[in-house]
Amino acid sequence: MARQRRNLETAAVHAGEPTPRVAGAVVAPIFQSANFEYAGESSYHDLRYIRLNNTPTHDVVHAKLAALEGGEAAVVTASGMAAISTTLLTVLAPGGHVLVQGNLYGGTHEFVTNDLGDLGMSHTVIDVDDPGSWGAALGPATRAIYVEAMTNPLLQVGDLAAVAAFARAHGLVSLIDSTFPSPVNFRPIEHGFDIVLHSATKYLNGHSDIVAGAVVGKTDLVRKITHRLNHLGGALDPHAGFLLNRGLKTLPVRVRQQNQTALALATNLDCHPVVERVNYPGLTSHPRHTRAKTLFDGFGGMLSFELVGGRPAADRFIDQLRIPLVAPSLGGAETLVTLPATTSHAGMDPDVRRRLGISDGLVRVSVGLETVDDIVGDFAQGLEAV
Ligand code: PLP
Repeated sequence: MARQRRNLETAAVHAGEPTPRVAGAVVAPIFQSANFEYAGESSYHDLRYIRLNNTPTHDVVHAKLAALEGGEAAVVTASGMAAISTTLLTVLAPGGHVLVQGNLYGGTHEFVTNDLGDLGMSHTVIDVDDPGSWGAALGPATRAIYVEAMTNPLLQVGDLAAVAAFARAHGLVSLIDSTFPSPVNFRPIEHGFDIVLHSATKYLNGHSDIVAGAVVGKTDLVRKITHRLNHLGGALDPHAGFLLNRGLKTLPVRVRQQNQTALALATNLDCHPVVERVNYPGLTSHPRHTRAKTLFDGFGGMLSFELVGGRPAADRFIDQLRIPLVAPSLGGAETLVTLPATTSHAGMDPDVRRRLGISDGLVRVSVGLETVDDIVGDFAQGLEAV
């Protein structure tokens, strides 16, 4: 039996770990076995088999994720998109309808706008800042409301408390992608959300070396999602599960360091004359700074900004940087910069993208774990080239 641990740092290290340890090994081993001997299981979903996400390696990660988010149960998936798509396909019965926030991660946006319709489900975009308008979007087939804790790449923070309350009042399942803040900065279940989704590729793993996803919430709902996942086949390989468990142990220290560096960088960028706008919820200039302060324990390691001179200025700036890598994805040890218009949101119609506020020259930063002065100094010298 795994012991119960309350505090986040302690849970990150110990929750879910087998007690007693397997053969005395301090680190839970990888159970790299596709199948396991029959042990009297009565349901297909309980047979031990990697695709059913129930090897001892999976069990450790599930228990740790549930403890970190304060949920009853968790299941890992082959990617963040597997977590998101499988959850939506489970919660929305055929003909089902979901309310979604306008400014979603590009992959989710494409799934909702292109794939859901093909599968006989529908969506309506809502303004997450205007709870009074949501009622008009409800219909008899509405089953769920889907938001992101902080939007990618503009770092908008919607009225999340109102989303959870609205879902409860109207019998909807509230779904939130909490990849950006991670449970170190925000635990949506404490705010009334039913299901928390993650791209575990990002902060949860934290080392840019696996693709994984996670779903956390009430046991009944997670079980239903797991059954659909078992049929769709989006299982996490045990080796990736082992790496995810290793990454989770350092999640609190990594994210707190990234919070500090991102705030220092955002503050420096915000007062630079060639920087037109910085999007970071930790800045008092952020339109939802007060809300973010109430919801979050830290403001995260992601920020974005625009330069005077737009895309050509952004290209000159990025060329000049010495430390960050120019690469998509986020949440790892290395500071990364990207232009979302050419990466995470490249699949979006350019007019829609611009209407949402994602300009062609918007620079997104995933702050890593380098020395804060090195990062702030490198960005300062990069700005000289603009
Ligand atoms: N959610 C957010 C906020 C993301 O940024 C991403 C990927 O960038 C995803 C979900 C999808 O995750 P994955 O690439 O692990 O499928």
